[in-house]
Amino acid sequence: MNATNPIMTCPYCKGIIDFPKNLEGESVPCPLCKSYIRLKAEPQKQLAQKTDDQGFFDTILGLAAILFLGGIACVVYFFFFYNTSVKDPDGTFDFNIGLLNQRECGIIIGVGATLVGCFVGIFFAIVKAVGFIEDAVAKVSNR
Ligand SMILES: [Zn+2]
Repeated sequence: MNATNPIMTCPYCKGIIDFPKNLEGESVPCPLCKSYIRLKAEPQKQLAQKTDDQGFFDTILGLAAILFLGGIACVVYFFFFYNTSVKDPDGTFDFNIGLLNQRECGIIIGVGATLVGCFVGIFFAIVKAVGFIEDAVAKVSNR
């Protein structure tokens, strides 16, 4: 792709193509899908930013999902599997204050991570949905 050439998104295959400036307005076959398209330059910055945003959102959503699932795993582990009882010399089991405290900490951290992951995920899902709606509105009003 030549960075100085205008670029556009093919309406048929959604591929991003570039073309020499003097061909703008001409009908040519798309180099990717061979459908005939009319060449019309799109603002490059907007296109580039869109792809950046996409990767950024996916990364954030991925991290949020990891945080969310990791938090749940953490809570489950500390709540159900973390052994806080210790065997006393006389053979009875006692709850160890230090271990109980650690278990509580683990659960709090786990719940915190789950909530943060959940909120971040919801927040970015909303931002993304709003972006889709804005795109759709822009497409309709461009017609
Ligand atoms: Zn195409």
